[in-house]
Amino acid sequence: MLDAGDFASAASSASTKLVHGGVRYLEQAVKRLNLEEYRMVQNALKERVYMLTNAPHLAHAAEFMVPIYSWSQAAYYRAGMKMYDWLSGKHSLFPSRYVSREETLHRMPGLRREGLRGAVAYSDGQFDDARYDMSLVKTFARARGEALNYARVTGFSRGTSGKLDAASVRDELAKEEFTVKARAFVNATGPASDAVREMASPGTAKRMRPSKGVHILFPLEAFPSEDALLVPRTEDGRLIFAVPWLGRLLVGTTDEEATPQTRMIVLREEAEYLFRQLNPYLSKPLGSEQIVSGLSGLRPLVAAGNGPDTKELIRDHEVESDMASGLISILGGKWTTHRLMAEDTIDAVQKAMGEPLSPCLTKQHVLAGAEGYAEDYWKQLRDGFCIEEGTAKHLAEKFGTEAERVLRLCEGRKEWKEPLVEGMPAIRAQAVFCIREEMAMTIEDVLARRIGIQFFDWRKAIEAAPIAADLLADELGWSEDEEAEAVKSYTAKIQDFLRELGLAGAG
Ligand SMILES: Cc1cc2nc3c(=O)[nH]c(=O)nc-3n(C[C@H](O)[C@H](O)[C@H](O)COP(=O)(O)OP(=O)(O)OC[C@H]3O[C@@H](n4cnc5c(N)ncnc54)[C@H](O)[C@@H]3O)c2cc1C
Repeated sequence: MLDAGDFASAASSASTKLVHGGVRYLEQAVKRLNLEEYRMVQNALKERVYMLTNAPHLAHAAEFMVPIYSWSQAAYYRAGMKMYDWLSGKHSLFPSRYVSREETLHRMPGLRREGLRGAVAYSDGQFDDARYDMSLVKTFARARGEALNYARVTGFSRGTSGKLDAASVRDELAKEEFTVKARAFVNATGPASDAVREMASPGTAKRMRPSKGVHILFPLEAFPSEDALLVPRTEDGRLIFAVPWLGRLLVGTTDEEATPQTRMIVLREEAEYLFRQLNPYLSKPLGSEQIVSGLSGLRPLVAAGNGPDTKELIRDHEVESDMASGLISILGGKWTTHRLMAEDTIDAVQKAMGEPLSPCLTKQHVLAGAEGYAEDYWKQLRDGFCIEEGTAKHLAEKFGTEAERVLRLCEGRKEWKEPLVEGMPAIRAQAVFCIREEMAMTIEDVLARRIGIQFFDWRKAIEAAPIAADLLADELGWSEDEEAEAVKSYTAKIQDFLRELGLAGAG
């Protein structure tokens, strides 16, 4: 498995973190009588349960509330959520229900009170996308797969039969080229799928219609709740979420067709769009000065031709086998259906290689870090390693039962029990573990996808950068100049994010 960047550095760490069938997709399927979209929702509802049970330290069920301001809305959403329950069948997490005005305000005291009748609550899942991806990579490695990050496929060569037989790969860090030979090649590059299809068969018609989506994050106190809020109607006929996530409130998302000029940064007008949709539902509107961080990503949407708006495109996946080159591309899809996408792809590979289809083993396959995990596992860490409760909980939710290996690194190095940055639960041993065991190669790999500080707080990430760089330099043998350059460019990148939104700390 070759990834041009870091694992999960593109869309897969920029999602809304929902493990869901998709209530909006169900609504669309019913309105358009679209059987394909209906099946996609049904499959995703099944996959939701596998995702939750295979890595319970990284994914859990959550309650989502749709605030109701008129009785006709109540009837509409109640009926819709009943259908969502029904479609979930035996894979239902817990049934939807009507919540009284009093209970709604008790659970979401920051909701606008005037006219509020209550809420319709339903269940879906939530997860830590970047860590889930890391856990999949490690599980793959344990099954004797080999994974490399910063390894970009730059071209293919064909054998005498005309089929691809080798890929040229560039090590993006060492700037070296090498070749990988294989009997079959799978293109699983999300929004970049067309570029790889083009490498295999020049002139191939494009299939991808990537669309940009952003999120902004706030302190949880800005809208205190343990439940997620669903805003059921936006000005462009979609819905958005305000979800408590790892100690923050995550608000998103937007949906705009991407162009070559699209900048992968949260733009001021995108933040303003989200404020316009969410604030009418809040008693105290959120303001841009409260933003602590943000995310932006490209959805790998697949479509034939120029068809409808990206908002209307079905989030289903498709496996394409190119007869001429033999390249197998997995296009479209969403996080929730990643396992099914892999199953369908491997079936296509076996078929193309003329092999019998082997039974799929991944429906119930405990992922790395989930072995022996229980909800109160963090207590073992707190008591066994004499660490603060906050650090124990943070380590358990990021590493599952691998957290003990992180803490054992401190046995000879007491200073690695120190926080990476003051006031946050992450400790230095985590960075060392991620460099040694999880192929973290840059400051951003450590602070964003492995530990999450960058998602939690941009300014804290700037503070933590010199410490992360110091640990990377020790482990990877960087020179002083390389270390200083890494801190400078990382800080400049985060300051750009802050500057775009007019936030303090942009330098
Ligand atoms: C804003 C937003 C919100 C979303 N919310 C949800 C949600 O709540 N729930 C849900 O289920 N789904 C959600 N999704 C969808 C989901 O995140 C994506 O479908 C999924 O992450 C796509 O994964 P991917 O691996 O196909 O693409 P990506 O994560 O984009 O990864 C593509 C990878 O291909 C690599 N690559 C590109 N070119 C090459 C090359 N030449 N050689 C080697 N590697 C290459 C890149 O380095 C990259 O790592 C959301 C998506 C977005 C953008």
